[in-house]
Amino acid sequence: MKSNTQFSFELMWDAVVKCDKRYDGKFFYAVKTTGIFCRPSCKSKTPKYNNICFFENAADAIQQGSRPCKRCQSELSIVTFDPQQDIVEESINYLKQHYRETITLNSLAFKIGVSPYYLSRIFKEKLGVTPHKYLESIRIHRTQQLLLNTVHNSTEICFQVGLCSAK
Ligand SMILES: [Zn+2]
Repeated sequence: MKSNTQFSFELMWDAVVKCDKRYDGKFFYAVKTTGIFCRPSCKSKTPKYNNICFFENAADAIQQGSRPCKRCQSELSIVTFDPQQDIVEESINYLKQHYRETITLNSLAFKIGVSPYYLSRIFKEKLGVTPHKYLESIRIHRTQQLLLNTVHNSTEICFQVGLCSAK
């Protein structure tokens, strides 16, 4: 069996049988008999082994004449799927939730599951700043809000947002 993606046919088949969500966005499968393509996690009936074919992305599947599945909305990934954007958004969410804590590039990259070098590079590509600078801007923004809205003095606020740490 031929595979047009970075994964082996058997691995993808296995992912489809198990509706494995981890492969969503990494490949798509189409069913030759119905001409519909799905995400790996789609809950529709598993096609016959001989009727399945795989695509690297949704655009390829459409180009080959497949129609997107309504159930798993496989076509939406055409516009929304960008693995780098996902990583950046995940990082931003993490920073926003944990900005009070000590966060280093290494600890952040570890949380997200990528290398520090890679994270720093795509951050700069997408946002024009390093993760550290971004974290700083969250803290500064938060400080401004606190200064405007609370009776805390600036040193207290400084500690609250993690700008000052008692290292
Ligand atoms: Zn589907």
